[in-house]
Amino acid sequence: MRPVPIVSMTLVMAIASILMPGSAVAEMSKKLQAQYPAKDVLPDTNHPLVKKWIAEIDWSKVPKLPLAKADIPNCPDCPAGKKGVPKDACWWTCDGCVAEDDIEVCPRDKAWGLTYDDGPSEETPRLLRKLHQANVTSTFFVVGSRVLEYPETLLQEVKEGHHIGLHTWSHAGMTSLTNEQIVAEIKWAEKVVFDVTGLKTKYWRPPYGDVDNRVREIVRQMGYKTVIWTKEWDSNDWQIPDKTITNKEVFRNFKWALSTVPKLKGGVITLEHDLYTQTVNVAGPLLDMGMKKGLEPMDIARCVNDPEPYQNSALTQKEADKKPAADMPAADKPTADKPAADKPAAAPAAKPVTPQPQTPLETPKAASAPETVSGKTVDSAIAAKGVKKSDATQLAWSATCLAIVAMSALLSL
Ligand SMILES: [Zn+2]
Repeated sequence: MRPVPIVSMTLVMAIASILMPGSAVAEMSKKLQAQYPAKDVLPDTNHPLVKKWIAEIDWSKVPKLPLAKADIPNCPDCPAGKKGVPKDACWWTCDGCVAEDDIEVCPRDKAWGLTYDDGPSEETPRLLRKLHQANVTSTFFVVGSRVLEYPETLLQEVKEGHHIGLHTWSHAGMTSLTNEQIVAEIKWAEKVVFDVTGLKTKYWRPPYGDVDNRVREIVRQMGYKTVIWTKEWDSNDWQIPDKTITNKEVFRNFKWALSTVPKLKGGVITLEHDLYTQTVNVAGPLLDMGMKKGLEPMDIARCVNDPEPYQNSALTQKEADKKPAADMPAADKPTADKPAADKPAAAPAAKPVTPQPQTPLETPKAASAPETVSGKTVDSAIAAKGVKKSDATQLAWSATCLAIVAMSALLSL
């Protein structure tokens, strides 16, 4: 008999959803939400957990670089000309500099690193259906604040074999943040993903691709690999909601990019978004176009041939091997809030990862917008978009999804 582990707050919620009436679960859900930072704002760096995370970094290794100027959503304001970029910054957004360990392409010819940023959102299930039909897995770079709103969608992504990466807590441009704020943005997002799925993320994409050597060193020490996207392969779908580009132009640009494939050495990584109706509308046709031209879509872990897509992959795999397949959470179980028609009939065969409850990273205590290059913002509407659904309903659904896992975990002790 092993000692009883401390179960995470999400698991407490899972069990509560079975034992308690809906209103009580909703009340607990609110409390759970209160344990995370406020949505879509920079987290408080004085929070005890953040202080603990900060203390885990060897700051002597972090380059001292000036903070970027930024506009309101912390989108970096690039200095005029490359001369204005600090020496040794290797600031991708502003001078296109790529560090040795940045992931900007897939090494293998025709490999297509398929990525969707800024979700999960209420549009994501529609995209998941398309990916399921095509039997394709992608990487979702998720925003922590959105995960808090749509935990059940995150679970669905994992259950259907997709790969999860981080896209920070509030979608801020990282080069404009202090060292402490960078830690808080990554670790809170990591924590909410872990609390929902049991997976400790290993890949991240900086909002706006905004990364320099200071940011890189901090995230490296937290175990992260930085993923950007291949030049000329930003779908620019994010401009459709802004009405600065049409669907037709998106398709035409993508067609042009596809025409360069025969000359490319290695594969590509595209940038798309699952936050808006319009971006999900073009995602299906873009997928079809790429596949028709012979590109092989895949998530980033596969693109770089990484057999361990998460920091705790070995651990979660060990746990998964111990459990029968029936332990998979019933993420597609219909409820009053989620009709069965919203969900695909079955998960694709490709690379399933079982969401596993693990010993929590930390017990949370009370705590206090999307991308582009060249400093343009796509995220101006993220905050407005993000606060739509009933949080209580979302978390209650998440709790139900996890209930089976929680109970089986407890029973196996
Ligand atoms: Zn983004």
